[in-house]
Amino acid sequence: MKYEVDERGYYGNFGGAYIPEMLYPNVEELRMQYLEIIREPVFQKEFTDLLRNYVGRPTSLYHAARLSEKYKAKIYLKREDLCHTGAHKINNTIGQILLARRLGKQKIIAETGAGQHGVATATVCALMGMECVVYMGKLDMERQRPNVERMRILGAQVVPALSGNMTLKDATNEAMRHWINHPADTHYIIGSVVGPHPYPHMVTLFQSVISEEIRKQLVSEIGQPNPDYVVACVGGGSNAAGAFYHYLDEEHVALIGVEAAGKGVDSGESAATTALGKPGVLHGSKTLLMQTHDGQVIEPYSISAGLDYPGIGPLHAHLFDTGRVQFVNATDDEAMHAGIELARTEGIIPAIESAHAIAALSKLELTEEDVVVINLSGRGDKDLETYIRWGKY
Ligand SMILES: *Cc1c(COP(=O)(O)O)cnc(C)c1O
Repeated sequence: MKYEVDERGYYGNFGGAYIPEMLYPNVEELRMQYLEIIREPVFQKEFTDLLRNYVGRPTSLYHAARLSEKYKAKIYLKREDLCHTGAHKINNTIGQILLARRLGKQKIIAETGAGQHGVATATVCALMGMECVVYMGKLDMERQRPNVERMRILGAQVVPALSGNMTLKDATNEAMRHWINHPADTHYIIGSVVGPHPYPHMVTLFQSVISEEIRKQLVSEIGQPNPDYVVACVGGGSNAAGAFYHYLDEEHVALIGVEAAGKGVDSGESAATTALGKPGVLHGSKTLLMQTHDGQVIEPYSISAGLDYPGIGPLHAHLFDTGRVQFVNATDDEAMHAGIELARTEGIIPAIESAHAIAALSKLELTEEDVVVINLSGRGDKDLETYIRWGKY
């Protein structure tokens, strides 16, 4: 596997574990054990059972006939929007909570920006009867009130992060601090393919069920497992990593990552990391991130809260570097129009993150023979306010 992580936790030039010394024992415990535990048949059985009966997997691979007609290609939607809690994030939180239990941990902490990962974490903690503390920037708590209340209904404690801009970065710092102070009994569930090794690899493995299913489903749809294109939006990169994983070594399958251009790549209000980023260290790994000349992280911007992140996971930095994945981007307006288009042609209101992937259709040069799989990472219920505020429908 050319694109697999090495034993030091690197994907090519990216990855590793850049962490304060105080955190070393926690990360090392995880690194020593994660692969062995995940490969145990009892773990696999419980993970698979929960994905099937609790999350609702396999999610369908839906042939979008009217969308296909419009773009003159054969378009399939991988329906992660049908997962319990409304997005792919629960695949990872189910995997990590089983791992935490197996490591003997009683408490779970998480960070959240828009609240989607916090809800997915609070959900699995309720499911397993485990204590849950979610750190969230105070500003984000005000902006994402319904998700804060969802987490509380599920029994989680939501702790406001009061430092810095009071957003995701500050919530992550608070979660790290908590973990340093409670190494023995606490597991930290990170929500994307970011963070120190082994998190990017571990989260990729849990999300890889997406491409595992696509391959099987395409065999019954078109008689073979490989499409011409797989398209996914990239915030930190977990839904894309899951949708790409089993195709990484199939070089004839074009992989397209779609980043959020916000108000335009050169507008100063964007989250298009591969277009604007430089190598640096963010949240414990070496990767591409948006930064000033003297290395300060630039505040990202996107209309979609889930794509509003200044970096990408190290796997994606490597896939960009090697050219294995082609990165394109979509502006706020392009994504919103694409979201409405999907609603009108297929009766599916997508999450605004996923609408960025739909927006990429008009940027590809497709022919009628091309088979395109778009990973529809989540549903749009959570984004109703944003659709209403945008208003052009
Ligand atoms: C969180 C989220 C994303 C972005 O996260 P990735 O790790 O890049 O997948 C995309 N889509 C939805 C629906 C999300 O909730």
